[in-house]
Amino acid sequence: MHIDVITALLADLEAGFITWEQALKQVTALPTVWHTAEWKRQRDALIGTACAVCATTDGPFVLQHLTPSPHFKEVCQTVKQELRNQLLPQMEAQVTAADVAAHVGPGDERQACPTCASVSIRERKTMQPRYVCSRGEKGWHAFPYFDVPFTVRYYTKQKTTDHASAMEMAREFLVSVAMVAEVRKYDQAIQHEATLRSLRQTLVYRSLKDTATYCKKCAFKEDLPLIQRKIYAS
Ligand SMILES: [Zn+2]
Ligand SMILES: [Zn+2]
Repeated sequence: MHIDVITALLADLEAGFITWEQALKQVTALPTVWHTAEWKRQRDALIGTACAVCATTDGPFVLQHLTPSPHFKEVCQTVKQELRNQLLPQMEAQVTAADVAAHVGPGDERQACPTCASVSIRERKTMQPRYVCSRGEKGWHAFPYFDVPFTVRYYTKQKTTDHASAMEMAREFLVSVAMVAEVRKYDQAIQHEATLRSLRQTLVYRSLKDTATYCKKCAFKEDLPLIQRKIYAS
């Protein structure tokens, strides 16, 4: 089952004797465990005579792994998300009010509907009143026509006339930009941590310790969300 090989690799990786790439390469080069005779023997010895979920004694039964073993990419995503959560307060503090104000800018003067302040208005060549509000035309408000437009400030990058929401959007944007740049610095550390976790998961999986006897129906029911997630992800 190569438990000693993987345990040794994990120790070497934890100690920094090998890189995550070397560890991962060696683990993926190992023969597929569930094809080995030893695996089949151990699994058959562990399978009981009743389902742990529905208690049926009608076989056939399978040995269900109770600890999930996500794909390496999924583990990387989890590690990355944990890092983002950890870095968020720091990134938020890094983006100053002045940065946000500079990003929003003074805005452009635009002509808008006097009823709803929307900038999607158009001027009519011959008809009176001269202007029509597109929103009003679609039924957002009564009487979409007007002669004198209302002047507003339009924040182009945020596509809004509302200063407070432009500031909020700009802050979110600048924090996300800072986050992407910061997370990139941790690329190797993320893969290292994900490899450590993957090796530990592999050991649990191969040890067949965290398992239970399931009937095929219950095993299918439990695996279904996982199968659906994999189909969705592929
Ligand atoms: Zn069952
Ligand atoms: Zn309007």
